[in-house]
Amino acid sequence: MSNRILVPYSLTAGESTIIANNFNTHTDWSKPVFHSIKVNIIAHLRVQQNNSCCYCKYQLGFDIKQVDIEHIIPKSEYENFTFETRNLALSCPACNTKKSAKPVLRSVIVNYPKNGTNIIIIHAHYDDYSNHIDIINNCVFVAKSTKGSETITFCELFRLSTVEQKAKAYQQLSPSIIQQLVADLKNGNQQDKEYLINTIKEAIR
Ligand SMILES: [Zn+2]
Repeated sequence: MSNRILVPYSLTAGESTIIANNFNTHTDWSKPVFHSIKVNIIAHLRVQQNNSCCYCKYQLGFDIKQVDIEHIIPKSEYENFTFETRNLALSCPACNTKKSAKPVLRSVIVNYPKNGTNIIIIHAHYDDYSNHIDIINNCVFVAKSTKGSETITFCELFRLSTVEQKAKAYQQLSPSIIQQLVADLKNGNQQDKEYLINTIKEAIR
């Protein structure tokens, strides 16, 4: 499996017409008229990206809240690239939020770049992820290049090691809590038992 998008989405003639008739500025991106185009773009990119976020590589969910169409070069800065399909990749909402509209270009451009040289971070279409970042234990991101390091900073990928540590700590903690509860239920007096049972009932109601 390639670590970059090999084939950008190809807009149909009908989709290009819809865009030509309805797109004026980057905020038009959220217009309902573009919904079906976005659905098609997402379906295409899921396959190209092996259903993983272009920045953190976590698996993308299938609810609309669990996948974003990310504009690699921010559409607020270059609104003519809003529907440029080489500028589109799927990301998790967390990476998209962290990256937000930070400028990613080394210098001002007119036409869409043909390679990743002028782009500070990993470009999902042009740069092979594995040349720039190693992911250890699914959560520790190690930069192998300046682009890798910038991508980690832009998307705050160090946040994921914290999440993973919390998850592990919770997994280690929960059996002992349950064991303690069972012991309390066995050994406690009637009043303690009733209190515990009622607390559990309240918690799961
Ligand atoms: Zn992500």
